[in-house]
Amino acid sequence: MYQLDLTGKRALVMGVTNQRSLAWALAQPLAAAGATIAYSYQGDRLRPTLEKLTEDQPGATLHACDVTDDAQLDALFGDLERDHGHLDFVVHALAYAPPATFAAPFVETGRDDWKLAMDVSAYSLVAVANRARRLMQGGGSMVTLTYLAAERVVPHYNMMGVAKAALEASVRYLAYDLGPQGVRVNAISAGPVRTIAARSIAGFGDMYSEAGRQSMLRRNITAEEVGGLGLSLLVPELGGGVTGETVYVDAGFHAIGMFLPQAGSDEG
Ligand code: NAD
Repeated sequence: MYQLDLTGKRALVMGVTNQRSLAWALAQPLAAAGATIAYSYQGDRLRPTLEKLTEDQPGATLHACDVTDDAQLDALFGDLERDHGHLDFVVHALAYAPPATFAAPFVETGRDDWKLAMDVSAYSLVAVANRARRLMQGGGSMVTLTYLAAERVVPHYNMMGVAKAALEASVRYLAYDLGPQGVRVNAISAGPVRTIAARSIAGFGDMYSEAGRQSMLRRNITAEEVGGLGLSLLVPELGGGVTGETVYVDAGFHAIGMFLPQAGSDEG
């Protein structure tokens, strides 16, 4: 059996709101294998939850950082350089689009809502990568979270789908720029998981049950499955040859051209 020892490895995990956050699911296997984790969170109201969640993680540090603010990003990476010296892994698991963009038709998207969704959900990865690379002189790896709505129309996703398309393209350009330095950048395209951000999307309940019903595995995925894929992409011993990629953990949903409920069974 392959033993993974990440003792001495340093990770930045961005986007934990609570124990249901995909960022938390991605942090779990890293912490279990011995990595030391710095967590960044959007605002002060999230800190108490993070303090509780991380109390058993040796060396975990907490840093406020709203990714729309360059000064806060600079402060975060200043802290990381001071506290940790180097960085091996970055988990970017955050996104935002104003609620109106999920509720109204895409054609009505306003300029300010477009800018804010793009800024938080796509540009922030570029801003983070540019700062993180300076702490990854010995190579490293970054993962971000995306969704099928980047490539296909998913009702209600609207502006967030467009922002995820920009995010996935950014992953490829970042992977190209950082490849010579031995830094890999990949996106995980996850099927629906019940998190705070997901529940705020109009129609999420229907999307969730349809995705489970119509996937190849005939079920929804779990946050733990996202964490497992994240670990395999982040750790060079497992995912060392993979970069610039969008990898799906969606029970096969993305690859289906037409779903027939009976197909694959004896009656098919
Ligand atoms: P979540 O609500 O737990 O996490 C979203 C995080 O984004 C929160 O921690 C929030 O504080 C952070 N955030 C928003 N604006 C920010 C800002 N300006 N600065 C810093 N942080 C900010 O929900 P989640 O579902 O775990 O979302 C994590 C990622 O996974 C997102 O990119 C989301 O689009 C993606 N994703 C989620 C699903 C799903 O079904 N849950 C599926 C595919 C992809």
